[in-house]
Amino acid sequence: MTNKLYYNATHLTDWQTRITETIEREDGFYVILEETAFYPHGGGQPCDLGTIQDIPVLDVISEEDLVLHKLERLPEELSVTCQMDWKRRFDHMQQHSGQHLLSATSLDLFQFMTVSFHLGEDYCTIDIETPELSPNQLHSIEWEVNRQIYRNHNILTYFVTGEEASKLKLVKQPKVTENIRIVEIKDVEYNACGGTHVSSTGEIGMIKLLKTEKIKGNTRIYFKCGYRALEEFNNTQHILGALSSKLKTGKDEIIDRIEKWENEQKQLLAEVTLLKEKNDDYVAQELLAQQEGKLIAKVFEDKSLKDLQSLANKLTAKCDVPVLLATSAENKVVFAQNGSAEISCGAFFKAHLGTYNGKGGGSDKLAQAGFPTWEDAFAFYEFARS
Ligand SMILES: [Zn+2]
Repeated sequence: MTNKLYYNATHLTDWQTRITETIEREDGFYVILEETAFYPHGGGQPCDLGTIQDIPVLDVISEEDLVLHKLERLPEELSVTCQMDWKRRFDHMQQHSGQHLLSATSLDLFQFMTVSFHLGEDYCTIDIETPELSPNQLHSIEWEVNRQIYRNHNILTYFVTGEEASKLKLVKQPKVTENIRIVEIKDVEYNACGGTHVSSTGEIGMIKLLKTEKIKGNTRIYFKCGYRALEEFNNTQHILGALSSKLKTGKDEIIDRIEKWENEQKQLLAEVTLLKEKNDDYVAQELLAQQEGKLIAKVFEDKSLKDLQSLANKLTAKCDVPVLLATSAENKVVFAQNGSAEISCGAFFKAHLGTYNGKGGGSDKLAQAGFPTWEDAFAFYEFARS
């Protein structure tokens, strides 16, 4: 049996111990230590990392009463020095203790039970038993958890028997019946939990609730505690700073500035539409004046499909011959007629597009197609023209 230091010596960062067993498995090397502070995966919490005799720990797993440490290679000595990746461990402690306090507060304020907890590298979540959580409720919970953090309650951990556990007001009765580990946040709650925790709520630093989403009839809350919350704040500051300097304004004026931009953009768009319309009229007139044969055909370099369609409509309204337009800007071809011609635009496209790798279709009066390259589009255009 491994002596599990992580249960009590939660702030231990380095220690000396002996290797009691080395194991070689297909997936790598493992050692069992006399005593370890490396927490194995479990209870929703990822494992600790660090080094044993300067050899990186790759994974920590629990098998019955033993803790197995997967290493890059086996150490030569049996007496070893262990070093915890403290940044990672303390982060897990901040998130996990923060989660207990968050769950306790959701229960206390709104009677929402926590049904699951995820502690990941990128994000932490809890799922609470409610289909709805209003922004006001979220705000109240956030404010209250932070208040409880600053009250700096002691967090105690100890083992009890099943009988002792049944006398405690536990959030949820555990499945195990003996050697139950209790995590008690003084004056807040008793929770059966095997994870690593900070020793008082002040160490959580702060909690930031980021967003919620509906999940299988419950509500998922995304949150960050401690250094993660600080990093989130720094990232947001960075983005705001970049926006401020791009918009050449203080952060409080960014939204006003963007709204102003949006209005300007709308106005500009309206002007562009009007100008395009005028330009189309002009191009249409020119094409009509030049028209001699049984088809109006023209290739453009700068028009969109929408532009071609609008131009084709203008032309067919004033002229009985079919209209064939193409644009190299989007590799598109449009074919239109006003009903005077005997040909069906859609049927013609359907019959011949495949040969030119084109995709599209349409009605008797208007058809459009897109091509993977301008060479394909132009070949089809030439074919249709002839
Ligand atoms: Zn827990």
